[in-house]
Amino acid sequence: MRNIISPILLLLFGVHDPSNFASAFRTTSSTTTSARPSRSALRLIRGRCARTALAIGTTTSTSTSTSITSPFVVKHPLEGKEDDDEEWDVVVVGSGVGGLCAASMCARYGLRTVCVEAHEHAGGVSHSFERRTSVVDDIGGGNGKPFVFDSGPSLLSGMSASSGSTNPLRQVLDAIGTSHRVEWIKYDGWMIHDTSCPITDDKSRFRLTTGNGGEWERSIERKAGMESSVEFVKFRDRMMGPNGLSESSALIPPMALRGDIGAIITMSSYLLKFLAIGTKGALLTGPFVECMNRYELRDDFNRRWFDYLAFALSGLDAAHTQAAPVAYTMIDLHGEGAVLDYPKGGMDSLISALVEGLEMKRGDGEDGTRRGELRLKSRVDKFILVDEDGKAKCDGVQLRDGTRLRARRGVICNAPLWNMARILEDSVLDKKTIPNHDVIASAVKEVREQANAMQMSGSFMHLHLGIPSDGLPDDLDCHHSVLNLERDITEEQNLVIVSIPTVFDQSLAPPGYHVIHAYTAASENFKDWDDKLEGGYDDGKTEQNDYKRGKAYNELKEEKAEALWIALERIIPDIRERARRAGSVVEVGTPLTHRRFNRRYRGTYGPAPSDGKDVWELPGPKTPITGLLACGDTTFPGIGLPGVAASGTIAANTLVDPIAQLRLMGELKSTGALQ
Ligand SMILES: Cc1cc2nc3c(=O)[nH]c(=O)nc-3n(C[C@H](O)[C@H](O)[C@H](O)COP(=O)(O)OP(=O)(O)OC[C@H]3O[C@@H](n4cnc5c(N)ncnc54)[C@H](O)[C@@H]3O)c2cc1C
Repeated sequence: MRNIISPILLLLFGVHDPSNFASAFRTTSSTTTSARPSRSALRLIRGRCARTALAIGTTTSTSTSTSITSPFVVKHPLEGKEDDDEEWDVVVVGSGVGGLCAASMCARYGLRTVCVEAHEHAGGVSHSFERRTSVVDDIGGGNGKPFVFDSGPSLLSGMSASSGSTNPLRQVLDAIGTSHRVEWIKYDGWMIHDTSCPITDDKSRFRLTTGNGGEWERSIERKAGMESSVEFVKFRDRMMGPNGLSESSALIPPMALRGDIGAIITMSSYLLKFLAIGTKGALLTGPFVECMNRYELRDDFNRRWFDYLAFALSGLDAAHTQAAPVAYTMIDLHGEGAVLDYPKGGMDSLISALVEGLEMKRGDGEDGTRRGELRLKSRVDKFILVDEDGKAKCDGVQLRDGTRLRARRGVICNAPLWNMARILEDSVLDKKTIPNHDVIASAVKEVREQANAMQMSGSFMHLHLGIPSDGLPDDLDCHHSVLNLERDITEEQNLVIVSIPTVFDQSLAPPGYHVIHAYTAASENFKDWDDKLEGGYDDGKTEQNDYKRGKAYNELKEEKAEALWIALERIIPDIRERARRAGSVVEVGTPLTHRRFNRRYRGTYGPAPSDGKDVWELPGPKTPITGLLACGDTTFPGIGLPGVAASGTIAANTLVDPIAQLRLMGELKSTGALQ
């Protein structure tokens, strides 16, 4: 039962232990106008909603939100505001997909929102970058057209659906009005290369084909035998059947969630469905391996397959990956007509659509006002923390160049929890300038303790190549996973993921070339690189970017990249020779590169459950500091583009009145974008 209650309490009130529910409710209530969750409090909330509906209407048509009184939304008076300080409703720190979803949703709600990003590109780990070759060759290399590389994700699904997608990222695009800006290329699967078999063995290669046409089952049969295939079908049918776990995993859209008591109102239309999940909820919030055990998935190949799938999603095996995202992914892979989606023009097209939604004029026609703004190369060095009635409160940020951005509604931090803790610590260094320093420092300490308690998964080696495509098969797949299925999926460098998006989008490279991204998936040990970092270890400061690129670094880089080359040889046997040709581009990224360009503490993929703890332990959008919310992969529901889009949506929802949220949900339902 704990498993079923925890996620809801955690999301609404930020508590992991249901026994703390009462005290959490008291804390939550103290930020509202009522002290207890009594009937009168609920009546008060309902009464206020009617009035705030009018207020929200005002907000969306003017540029200020100060007139709003709400039992849900904290209004900041901006004490000690200096003349040069900029005033916003919301400041979002970081433009990862989580941050951009939060920022663009806030702008959609009519809040004046600025999103500040330290890097020169938006997108966080999902940013794209370009490289040009200096050599002009006879097939077009060096003709001025760049190679465009995705730095991270490229596997998406549920984005091209005509309507009613359950993917939270697609729902954000629909909400902010830019889903039509991305052209989705649909395709139907990827190749798996099992290195436990010699390359000459037919069983060394098999293909996952999406949909329910039977191709995948035939692949299993060829690879592992009839019994494995039959067992998979049984398992799939139990997971994906009517009222099965897969369906249950997508019942409540993040559009209906928020991080406060208002969720009782916004989730109401889904509550019956949710209650119908019954005891299955415990399975969904536990590790996926419990579903495998419950539904008798015993075959060795099938169990290894789901370890691989879980690892591809979370960087952890099935015993440590929460069941809900894996169950949800099963629909994306094996549902009727299921396809995968790649954004034409690369991941930057998706990021641009989110930025467009943030910066779009909103209101009537040409007279609409721009609600949001993205600022690149704007690193946040400090949060502006003040004391409010004996509680720490955040009402803005200070950038590296000294610019102060004040936020009336709140600050949403998309930097991972470990980075956020560090920025907070830097914010309270100067005791003299912070009134009631002890109170604020103790809230900061609480965040630091949360960060220290959160385990992390490993880092990455990356290989980005631009190579001539002459003579390569026309039916080359875009995505490939190369792994030894006999080995533990979590073993260092076991799984290499490869994407070659030019197989269906030649706009990403000069004519006659492919771009390739290969990476070891979240299995690099950052310890191997610690001593190359300036200072000898990662102190969490995002400006600590320098590392010693001497002989030892280059040797380690070459040694660690070898696994990527070997994996690529399974797909393109003469890859090394192609990479040496004039016009080709070769970029090798290490965990230090990953850390540097994405500002990821210890180059990590994201959070991992601590040993012996419940899989479910991610915090909701609230932090111990009033006015400071969090989104991104270190908050519920975790890693992956759908997950971080959900967290950004939930954070934005929390900053508006439930009535505004319900109104948006109504609009989306009326167009079929939300079910
Ligand atoms: C190689 C790789 C492949 C992946 N493949 C897939 C996939 O195929 N499908 C999928 O769904 N998911 C995939 N993922 C996971 C997914 O991409 C991530 O979980 C998600 O993009 C994380 O987004 P985020 O917003 O939480 O964080 P981030 O992308 O890390 O964004 C945080 C942002 O905050 C900024 N920031 C940090 N500190 C500051 C500061 N002080 N001031 C200003 N800005 C700051 C950073 O620069 C960054 O832009 C992949 C991830 C990686 C690394």
